[in-house]
Amino acid sequence: AVKATQVHKAFGSLHVLKGVDLTVMPGTVTVILGPSGSGKSTFLRLINQLETLTGGSIEVDGELIGYKHVNVRGEDKLQTLNEREIAKQREKLGMVFQRFNLFPHKTALENVMEAPVHVAHMSHSQARELAVQELERVGLGERLDYYPMQLSGGQQQRVAIARALAMRPEIMLFDEPTSALDPELVGEVLNVMRSLADAGMTMIVVTHEIGFAKEVADQIVFMDGGVVVEQGGPEIVDHPSSPRFQDFLNHVL
Ligand code: ATP
Ligand code: MG
Repeated sequence: AVKATQVHKAFGSLHVLKGVDLTVMPGTVTVILGPSGSGKSTFLRLINQLETLTGGSIEVDGELIGYKHVNVRGEDKLQTLNEREIAKQREKLGMVFQRFNLFPHKTALENVMEAPVHVAHMSHSQARELAVQELERVGLGERLDYYPMQLSGGQQQRVAIARALAMRPEIMLFDEPTSALDPELVGEVLNVMRSLADAGMTMIVVTHEIGFAKEVADQIVFMDGGVVVEQGGPEIVDHPSSPRFQDFLNHVL
């Protein structure tokens, strides 16, 4: 599970997150909606420790991220984790971005093998087997030796998903994974995400795809101005109770 408690984030004098509370249960899908600048990416980046909190806390599987308890002369204190400890915590999370960030000079297979070989120190043959499996899972079993340039945007994004899955994360974070894609390529990526959800993956998805949200989300969160304005089951999309959410939906639908 992911549990965010009163999460604050400021960049200098810019207060971006102003006390976000959110719980994501294992095996569930949470979709975060909200206008540009509302802090959605910042929130995901905090969970993955690409940014550091300025207030509050985030727990992943009951473990505080970024800190550990240490005993100093009989007193319990919190100490910040070092890079290696942070990397270890990050292994639980897979993240997919709007831009696919694949290595252009590596094939689909090599892109997916990269982390298992260099981060998880798997043998080449083991990593290869795993990568083939993950690429097959996203429907790219026939494209193993293609370079990113030779793949469509939707295929590249599916390679990016396979690459994240290859590290066997417990939780997948998606930050607008389809918003850089041509409209006709959105569906294939959403289908891969839907099948991941069906397989029981815990997912937090920032997206403007309301149809996907309604169909796949267990929980929908509407953020605006750095706070959670509204939260509930998929039905809240059809019956928003706050004017701000209503207004947002009128603009994206
Ligand atoms: P979008 O829908 O456009 O992706 P978002 O909800 O993901 O928006 P964030 O990217 O989280 O919004 O940004 C929230 C605010 O924080 C914005 O005003 C942004 O300019 C600011 N911000 C984000 N990252 C930084 C940073 N590293 N330094 C300074 N300001 C930042
Ligand atoms: Mg964003």
